[in-house]
Amino acid sequence: GVTVRFSGEPRIFAMSNQKGGVGKTTSAVNLASALAELGAKVLVVDLDPQGNASTALSIPHTADVRSIYDVLIDEMPFADIVQVSPESSNLLCAPSTIHLAGAEIELVSQVAREFRLRRALEAYLAEHPVDVVIIDCPPSLGLLTINAFTAASEVLIPIQAEYYALEGLSQLLGNIQMIQKHLNPQLRLTTILLTMFDARTRLSQQVAEEVRAHFPDLVLEAVIPRSVRVSEAPSFGQTVIAYDGNSAGAVAYREAAVEIAQRGEQSSQNKEQ
Ligand code: ADP
Ligand code: MG
Repeated sequence: GVTVRFSGEPRIFAMSNQKGGVGKTTSAVNLASALAELGAKVLVVDLDPQGNASTALSIPHTADVRSIYDVLIDEMPFADIVQVSPESSNLLCAPSTIHLAGAEIELVSQVAREFRLRRALEAYLAEHPVDVVIIDCPPSLGLLTINAFTAASEVLIPIQAEYYALEGLSQLLGNIQMIQKHLNPQLRLTTILLTMFDARTRLSQQVAEEVRAHFPDLVLEAVIPRSVRVSEAPSFGQTVIAYDGNSAGAVAYREAAVEIAQRGEQSSQNKEQ
């Protein structure tokens, strides 16, 4: 197996792409599970009102459950909402509920509306250290995503190897730059992950080549294949890592997790030098 060292500051990823259905949630939960398997303590923050990440991690998130909504709107301490996934004691989740659907509008009139997640998360992490936080963003560039970008150190963009893969990307990159300039100078776009890759089609190959040409240093070597096992795992309340650990999708997410962890080691060594 691979040994990876996790140390120092937590790495906080915003899993973002304003397009829906590109594999944000699937990648958030499967990378989280694979990183937990590597020995990292991982917290998934479900910032999408649909709550798909909570579902995939088997975390109750009915309307009565304390959720990220309570943290953002009512300043409930983060520690009061975090649950442990049955999949691993290393895998934590801050669930979302349907209440979050209203938060985008409710946040507008709040004090420090762009910093609510950052402040709550910082207070939590000071008492409950983790190695990795993955924030699963909704498919929009509104205040919820801005809260994720303000709280994060890194942006991870999943790109579906399909038609129009790069459409809307310049708007996303522009938003990241705006956040860097005005709200969070630490934020870096570090990682691009190609998802739903179909090796049989010329189109998937072309999209992959095009994305690699645009972002040579950011695209992970590992590519996530389109696979039924990946898409059916959430209906069993499991990640594909737990559901079918030898399937092609699980293997690819593990490889991606190792790359992400190793890149983190390299950059923390560079900082020490
Ligand atoms: P997003 O969070 O960006 O909206 P999701 O992760 O929910 O996207 O994925 C959209 C749909 O595609 C879901 O039904 C999911 O199960 C499916 N899906 C995601 N990744 C894969 C994959 N590698 N193979 C097959 N289906 C996938
Ligand atoms: Mg999603």
